[in-house]
Amino acid sequence: MRPGRSRIGRASDTCLFCRIVAGEIPATVVHETDTTLAFRDIGPKAPVHVLVIPKAHHPDVVALARDPAAAADVLAAAAAVAEQEGLVGDGFRLMFNTGGYAGQEVFHVHAHVLGGTPLGPMVVLP
Ligand code: 5GP
Ligand code: ZN
Repeated sequence: MRPGRSRIGRASDTCLFCRIVAGEIPATVVHETDTTLAFRDIGPKAPVHVLVIPKAHHPDVVALARDPAAAADVLAAAAAVAEQEGLVGDGFRLMFNTGGYAGQEVFHVHAHVLGGTPLGPMVVLP
């Protein structure tokens, strides 16, 4: 940290996925660009389960949408991951959990790329 700079309030100090971007927490990275990172989910819900994130901190997809270039980069990276994981022919799911009703756990926006098997119904009520 540079002298005179406060760390207070910086998302990168506390946010799990900012810390993965910074290399402070390990992850199995499958795709990277200047602005995005894609890595395998630690608790996979399908044979292929990759998380695609912008390197810049945005809490959710609503915030990401205010930065159209970053949103486009995340979408392009998700498509590249689907191609490279061999999901495009059979099909796959691209999903953003957003807020409490959707059970969002990590508030650094991430696209779930899910595939490798038939995925069942899209909406599962408890
Ligand atoms: P959400 O519920 O917020 O949409 O999804 C968060 C996802 O992050 C979950 O699927 C969870 O398994 C994954 N996750 C949580 N902590 C870690 C971690 O430290 N590393 C990786 N690779 N994935 C994580
Ligand atoms: Zn973050």
